[in-house]
Amino acid sequence: MNYEKIAEILIPDADIKPLEYYEELYPERALEKGAEVTRLAPSPTGFMHIGNLYVALANERIAHQSGGVFYLRIEDTDEKRKVEGAVEVIQSSLKYFGVEFDEGADMGGNYGPYYQRQRAEVYHAFAKDLIKRGLAYPCFCTEEDLEGIRNYQTENKLLPGYYGEFAKCRDLTEEEIIANVKAGKPYVIRLRSQGDVEKKHTFRDAVKGEITVTENNQDVVILKSDGIPTYHFAHAIDDHFMRTTLVIRGEEWLSSLPIHIELFNVLGFKLPRYGHNCSIQKIDGDVRRKLSKRKDPEASLTFYREQGYHKMAVKTYMLTLLNSNFEEWLLKNPETPLDEFKYSIGKMGKSGALFDIVKLNDIAKTYMATLSAEETFDFLREWANEYGTDEQKGYFVDRERMLNILTLYMGIGGKKRRKDFVCAKQALELIAWFFEGSFKPEYTYKLDSVTVKKILEDFAAAYDHADDNQGWFGKVKGVAEQNGFATDMKAYKANPEAFPGSVADVAEVLRVATTGLTNTPDLWTIMQILGEEQTRARWNAAISAL
Ligand code: GLU
Repeated sequence: MNYEKIAEILIPDADIKPLEYYEELYPERALEKGAEVTRLAPSPTGFMHIGNLYVALANERIAHQSGGVFYLRIEDTDEKRKVEGAVEVIQSSLKYFGVEFDEGADMGGNYGPYYQRQRAEVYHAFAKDLIKRGLAYPCFCTEEDLEGIRNYQTENKLLPGYYGEFAKCRDLTEEEIIANVKAGKPYVIRLRSQGDVEKKHTFRDAVKGEITVTENNQDVVILKSDGIPTYHFAHAIDDHFMRTTLVIRGEEWLSSLPIHIELFNVLGFKLPRYGHNCSIQKIDGDVRRKLSKRKDPEASLTFYREQGYHKMAVKTYMLTLLNSNFEEWLLKNPETPLDEFKYSIGKMGKSGALFDIVKLNDIAKTYMATLSAEETFDFLREWANEYGTDEQKGYFVDRERMLNILTLYMGIGGKKRRKDFVCAKQALELIAWFFEGSFKPEYTYKLDSVTVKKILEDFAAAYDHADDNQGWFGKVKGVAEQNGFATDMKAYKANPEAFPGSVADVAEVLRVATTGLTNTPDLWTIMQILGEEQTRARWNAAISAL
């Protein structure tokens, strides 16, 4: 067989250069010893899964911590899955969570283009070379042919795939190949596998540790009939020429590792290190399963932005999932920037990472409680401007007032910070009642309406907006006494039947009438924030509603 001639017929591209050209075009990177080159290689589907952030963060940490490079490659070989604007979504959503690339798609760099569709020349050059060396061949099998093979293998309980005796086109003669091409039959290019499934090797995966891999014997497709490479082939070419040192990717690729080992081998490339990270799972009833794009809203990165989780909370949570020793470090170093945590690939979970929204919420609450009122103001306003209702956008017009609300709600200046805020959406819903347009009270009193009315009227008569907290409380007590309620808690506890209630019940009436809630932070401060006019208007509304 004249392989040279066949290669020319199958891949006639005029622009292909000698292979050394590509080695010179994409030279070894001049980096310090130990510096890792890592990448994120998503398909531009427009959907960012929390797993993308998980793997991106691992890659980013390892590259940047070692003085290396972290780049973005867009794996757009599957035209069907491509969505307009997807690259922007990838970059902006990762950037939001503090993960930034050094080079890559839409950014530039010396190892581009970073879109696989723009790299046809280099894939063709190497596929052609494999054909010339007798290590790849054209396959003219139709869908029906392949289905026939599959059915036969299933019926006879044989290993599935295109290999050995089933690889029908493996031994076509030169004449047959030329005749098929002349007849216009479509063809793919397949690897002529040299592997043997009887042979097993030990492989050191950077995440999973020692694993056993069986040699590949599949004549996998490397170029599809339209000349576009498969993931396997593009992965080998790109990670070699982009000089990736460490491939951290989802464990769904582990089963393809034997193919990749063989491809790197026949291409004469040094194999990068691999780390196959586990998927993110959740407990669903009695089962533990993968977080699913279809079933779980929290699988999407957009969810966290729409809910207004602070990016630092999400990043912190991701790190607890990624590295088992992170939480301990965080406890010891609560003030230290997260990037100072020494990330270790060896401490990544070997099996599934369990996603727990309750824990994320806890981390989010703790994080929110470290922010100042001003920082919280800016964070909430930014969220409201992007995702909030018009009403919520309006909350920020009176800055002074909003800062007072936040100071009160977050317990700033008090003995202990309150941890009521989880995310922006929830926080704004929690304080919505401060704003007249959002104030939709449902009054629930423990006392009868005649008593409630009397308490409200007496308090309105006694109220002086200029009173300080103590003076104000004196008035509450006064109203309690006027109406026969106990003001001495000891006396009340000793003989509760003697009173209609205590001063606490009187205060609760005032609280419910003013806020619509039975549980709020300090009521005097609330009245100060609402202002006299608004406070009195609320009592009047409460009386009318009785
Ligand atoms: N495009 C592949 C994916 O999105 C990339 C896997 C890899 O990182 O190599 O799953």
